[in-house]
Amino acid sequence: MPRYDFHCRDCEKDFTTEMHVDEYEKNKDSQKCPECGSENVKRKITEFETQTSKKS
Ligand SMILES: [Zn+2]
Repeated sequence: MPRYDFHCRDCEKDFTTEMHVDEYEKNKDSQKCPECGSENVKRKITEFETQTSKKS
């Protein structure tokens, strides 16, 4: 199942949600922060996009 990373703009927490693509397409605009319940969250870049640039 694909994972989606989000960042909450209200409490500055990052969280990850696992769901089917279909489910994500339905719910992507109404994701809620598990910490504070805010919907003021933004999607972070995908794993595919980070694979080439992430190095630790
Ligand atoms: Zn939050």
